[in-house]
Amino acid sequence: MDHKGRQKRLQGALGPSRLDGLLVVHLPNIRYLCGFTGSAGTLLITEEKSLFFTDGRYTTQARAEVQGARVVIRRKPPLVAVAEWLTANRRTKGHKGLWRLGIEGEHLTVAGRSRLAGALPSNVRLKEAPPLVEEARMVKDAEEIERLRAAVMLGAGLFDCALTAIRPGVKEAEVAAEMEYAARRKGADQMSFETIIASGERSALPHGRASDAPIPAAGFVVCDFGVILAGYCSDMTRTVYVGRPTDEARGVYEAVREAQQAAVAAVRPGVSVGEVDGAARKLLQRNGLVRNFTHSTGHGVGLEIHEAPRVASGQTETLHPGMVITIEPGVYIPGKWGVRIEDMVVVTERGCEVLTPTSKELIAIA
Ligand code: ZN
Ligand code: ZN
Repeated sequence: MDHKGRQKRLQGALGPSRLDGLLVVHLPNIRYLCGFTGSAGTLLITEEKSLFFTDGRYTTQARAEVQGARVVIRRKPPLVAVAEWLTANRRTKGHKGLWRLGIEGEHLTVAGRSRLAGALPSNVRLKEAPPLVEEARMVKDAEEIERLRAAVMLGAGLFDCALTAIRPGVKEAEVAAEMEYAARRKGADQMSFETIIASGERSALPHGRASDAPIPAAGFVVCDFGVILAGYCSDMTRTVYVGRPTDEARGVYEAVREAQQAAVAAVRPGVSVGEVDGAARKLLQRNGLVRNFTHSTGHGVGLEIHEAPRVASGQTETLHPGMVITIEPGVYIPGKWGVRIEDMVVVTERGCEVLTPTSKELIAIA
């Protein structure tokens, strides 16, 4: 992974954001920038330097993993170590003698901020930074796309386990268990989120995580699942029907499938994510189901299961080649049923490539 290049580009973005340094505490951002996969540490990026602060538990791991940044091991909490380092080493005179240290407003806790502020020299000012790393992470490089592709393939293989396990009377949690066991056996680091197996009336819950409810003799089962492989997440949804689908069930399923395909067809560079969302909504509007589509059309996926951009109405972010997003419209009729279909796609020079290899024909489990 091009950790050095990522740090260089971030250093170049500090000045235009009126920052002298950025303190990175969000672990996926740290992993993206320097390769560290442990669970405690903080990365300080200034215009000239990159330093990674962690504690003695991570000495060996940090030395092996961290690239492009100097590893500093301290016994104290990393934020205090950063403040002390700045007190001792801050020679650069920033704007009007002040040194502006950017912090990640979405990730630094209130307690962390006070600890930091209490230990900093008085001429260092904390400033909430724009989401510079999240923005960089939106566009994946070739190596990241390969990892995402591998995660998607492993994840998609679990759908076969679901198809074998789904039978009337089997608990949703048993279906999830079969899938999760297979995921570990096939090399997944872990699941990328709690597996959703939502059957019967529960399929109307967009986030119906697998429960001990038995699968009914007839109705939809929404299966939404993914794995993390080599750090990168996969995410897909397929909805199957147990029993013989009624015409009404088929109609709803086809409406969602058409909406999903319309949104996929809208993905190309230069188009805004709001327009992609609108493409799905327009189709459901035509079928009188748009009011039952109660969430956004998709989200970015990478080191995190949900990352920028949000593919939602009113969002103006423009698609660029290398972005990886989900397309997952759904229709939910409370007390009755729900259907969702989700693929991961990568934006290409001319359009997009659907990474998820699984068919979207309605599968009926007799
Ligand atoms: Zn999903
Ligand atoms: Zn998703």
